[in-house]
Amino acid sequence: MTDKGKVEIEIDVSKHPIHVNHPTCSKGHLLICESVKIHDYPSIKVKATYKNNAGFLYIDPIYGSFYNIIDGMHVPDGETVELFCPECDENLKAVNDTCQICLSPMFLFHLPNNGIVEGCLKKGCMFHKLKIVDAEEQVARLFEDRMLL
Ligand SMILES: [Zn+2]
Ligand SMILES: [Zn+2]
Repeated sequence: MTDKGKVEIEIDVSKHPIHVNHPTCSKGHLLICESVKIHDYPSIKVKATYKNNAGFLYIDPIYGSFYNIIDGMHVPDGETVELFCPECDENLKAVNDTCQICLSPMFLFHLPNNGIVEGCLKKGCMFHKLKIVDAEEQVARLFEDRMLL
């Protein structure tokens, strides 16, 4: 028996710049900031905390690129942050996953059609991955448009 909705694949997209343009928290709040752009695309804006400090993190929306901007606090390389939805304060930590390189917790953003983007919460660690569920059509589209809707 095959359950088409549960097929998961992981793809290596490092050679194909893909623009993540519809990441949300689990409640569907769009985490996009039109006024702060990275590579000319609206950045992914989330609340960030490090120890007792809080600020905002503007994440590079190009998958595989890491020109992230931290605003309002300083986070040294090698330290991990926590990320929250600016709208509902949901902790965006991935519940069932840790970084395969440094074992730190990861953040998780939802994409339309049950896809997810995960990334390491340690500053300076660039591990992240993309999972698309039930994906044939989406992958075809991904490589056509270089874009995740
Ligand atoms: Zn939210
Ligand atoms: Zn890591």
